Amino acid sequence: TAMDCCRTARRLGGEDVKVIVRSGFEEMKASPWEKEDALHEDIPILNFMVPIAFTHADGKLTGVTFQKVKAEYDANGKRSLVPAGEPDQTIPCDDVLVAVGQENAFPWIERDCGIEFDKWNMPKVDPKTMGSTNPKVFFGGDAAFGPKNIIWAVAHGHDAALSIHKLLSGEDITERPLPEVQISSQKMGIHEWSYDNDISADMRFKVPHRDKVVALKDIRAEVELGYDLKLALGEAQRCLNCDVQTVFAAPLCIECDACVDICPMDCITFTQNGEEDDLRARLKAPSPRHDQALYVADGLKTGRVMVKDEDVCLHCGLCAERCPTGAWDMQKYLIDMTHAGSSCPSKSRSAA
Ligand SMILES: Cc1cc2nc3c(=O)[nH]c(=O)nc-3n(C[C@H](O)[C@H](O)[C@H](O)COP(=O)(O)OP(=O)(O)OC[C@H]3O[C@@H](n4cnc5c(N)ncnc54)[C@H](O)[C@@H]3O)c2cc1C
Ligand code: SF4
Ligand code: SF4
Repeated sequence: TAMDCCRTARRLGGEDVKVIVRSGFEEMKASPWEKEDALHEDIPILNFMVPIAFTHADGKLTGVTFQKVKAEYDANGKRSLVPAGEPDQTIPCDDVLVAVGQENAFPWIERDCGIEFDKWNMPKVDPKTMGSTNPKVFFGGDAAFGPKNIIWAVAHGHDAALSIHKLLSGEDITERPLPEVQISSQKMGIHEWSYDNDISADMRFKVPHRDKVVALKDIRAEVELGYDLKLALGEAQRCLNCDVQTVFAAPLCIECDACVDICPMDCITFTQNGEEDDLRARLKAPSPRHDQALYVADGLKTGRVMVKDEDVCLHCGLCAERCPTGAWDMQKYLIDMTHAGSSCPSKSRSAA
């Protein structure tokens, strides 16, 4: 929000616009590229400054006084902002935009209509059904769990629509239809695949911007011009092909280790099985974090197991291309959520 406010202020005639934040620059909620774009439009971002007073003269705002702070962390890593011991700083200004985020407020919902509220005065909403405690009232988007983003708002809308559909059809809204799942090989020839698997070490390509002088003069001028073909192809090559899975068939594997040698991420290991901690420590690239899944396959002729660290796999497909027996296959995984409508009744769909 702060990044939208400051850049809009520049376009509305603000010549000297500053963003002043309590936290450090790195911890700001804005994305790195949003901060970059604000700095590019000559908007400095001053950090570790806590507002303590507005100053005024003759009934007019003259500035804001800030206390300088620094971050201190306790043993649990919890941050506190404590006075830095430097003198307060007053920044003169004639306007202030308070961009501190938003919260929901529902004073207009009668408290006797069957919708229960929690201790924060927010409605109690079931995250699965989006239903409130009044069975006929559903919430979604920012109103459900506080400000999020458009993707969440759309997803909540679908979930609430499904609940309403089921409610009107006399069905149990807590029973959700399964999504449709498909997984299909991307192999097109002996060593040919239906997707491009270049391994790119490129950083994100910047979207070209309109000339700053022009962009700042006209609030309607679109700033981001979009990629041209060359940049678009470069950016697309950074795709990690997350929708393409490595699928292993142990009976086909002759344990030649060719996939282990070619994997750019060292994420395949053939080894003796063992307790999880021990196994994780023995991987080619040790993987101590239990919350990151391992793909373990047995059934190999030597009695070993194939272990693959899903977290570091680039889905590049080199293992499948190199494998002489086709034991690795690259398969595209599609998940199609069931939305309200004709395909909705839960019994007519099933997971593949
Ligand atoms: C400055 C800013 C920048 C953002 N940038 C992004 C971004 O880049 N990407 C992103 O994904 N999200 C962004 N968001 C968040 C995103 O806008 C919201 O998450 C999203 O709009 C929520 O959708 P919604 O339908 O739940 O609510 P809203 O879009 O807020 O719609 C609610 C509607 O209800 C109306 N309304 C309110 N009260 C009543 C009432 N009593 N009676 C009738 N109507 C009422 C309001 O007028 C409004 O039209 C941004 C938000 C802000 C504030
Ligand atoms: S897809 Fe690429 S990164 Fe993943 S296991 Fe195969 S070779 Fe390694
Ligand atoms: S390249 Fe194929 S056959 Fe060789 S070890 Fe890997 S999966 Fe097994």
